[in-house]
Amino acid sequence: MRIEVDQERCEGHGLCEERAPQVFTLDDEGNLSYAFDGQDVPADRVDEAESGAVVCPVAALKIVR
Ligand code: SF4
Repeated sequence: MRIEVDQERCEGHGLCEERAPQVFTLDDEGNLSYAFDGQDVPADRVDEAESGAVVCPVAALKIVR
């Protein structure tokens, strides 16, 4: 499973970070970093990553299976 991040859509709400702080982090300027960019999410982080992705209010995080 992968997550594609659309940085253009991201508005820095931080909901993903609240749900999945080991996966998504925002810097002080609201720029999103994704821990597994360009790679499969490790098995032990899949549940957390999905939980964070589905709460994004602007659909910037797409789950790809
Ligand atoms: S919840 Fe969506 S809009 Fe908010 S920081 Fe995460 S990716 Fe960006």
